[in-house]
Amino acid sequence: MNKLVLLFTLAVSSTSQAWTIDGLGEYKFDTLDKQTFIIHGPLGEPNVKNHGFMNNPGMVIGADGVIVIDPGGTYQVGKNVINEIKKITDKPIVAAFNTHVHGDHWLGNQAILEAYPNAKIYAHPAMIAQAKDGAGDSWVGIMDTSTEGLSKGTVATYPTDATTHLQEVNVAGETFRIHNDITGVAHTNTDIMVEHVGSKTLFLGDNDLIHRFGRFDGTSDMHGNIKALEYAIDLGLTHYVPGHGPSGDANNAVKPFLDYLIIIKEETAKGYEEDLADYEIKPFADKRLADYRDWHGYDAQLGKHINKMLLEIEALDI
Ligand SMILES: [Zn+2]
Repeated sequence: MNKLVLLFTLAVSSTSQAWTIDGLGEYKFDTLDKQTFIIHGPLGEPNVKNHGFMNNPGMVIGADGVIVIDPGGTYQVGKNVINEIKKITDKPIVAAFNTHVHGDHWLGNQAILEAYPNAKIYAHPAMIAQAKDGAGDSWVGIMDTSTEGLSKGTVATYPTDATTHLQEVNVAGETFRIHNDITGVAHTNTDIMVEHVGSKTLFLGDNDLIHRFGRFDGTSDMHGNIKALEYAIDLGLTHYVPGHGPSGDANNAVKPFLDYLIIIKEETAKGYEEDLADYEIKPFADKRLADYRDWHGYDAQLGKHINKMLLEIEALDI
């Protein structure tokens, strides 16, 4: 083998080791801090193209183990996340946190407990109850359908330990402070936000979204979500990690979504006073939301968000 061929072979083999999703790109841990790393996932809905990977798995490396936050949306994604961890450290995974019940964040638990059966996985008690009560199986089905079977073999694997508000979890020499029940209900009624004390990082789950909108379903509360984001900013931390989209400081990675929700609230409250229907409020909100029109899901979600806010405002007025 001559030198050129050898170089070419080396280049190909190192590329083939990257976690590559055809048509989307390569995924690896970005460094937030010397111990804290995030893989920023694709921004879409689960589909064939992204294989059900669309969240932001995080990891913190402690003295004698690794702690994972939201290991991804399928068994296969979880295995890829573990593979990426192994490229950075050979320490074992000793714990994980699941920010809420939506399966795109936690079905990867299966890969963690398969490889590290003694790992503890923490979540809000309502998350564990709902996951066991059908939400887990339902998410396995959603992933199977939307990826056309690429998630086959994924089995709902539940968290092992329930959290309480302001609980401090000490593991591998690291302290994690749990923020739940701040407002009762925000993105869902199962949310926790996880603070890594050492690196001053807050993992917000889907209480925070950047460059991508999500649904506010029947278990959500937009007013509660606003309060949760204000609470997160008031913690005065250095790094903020949204459930989807780029991490950053409070101004870059929390305030944009907070401002969006406040605009929706203000325009909907105004429309409610004037007896407008949701579709009549939409153009007024849209006029103030130029900065958000390129966020994934804007067209699909704006009307639904106004409708949900209107229902909340009506309920508060009664
Ligand atoms: Zn979610």
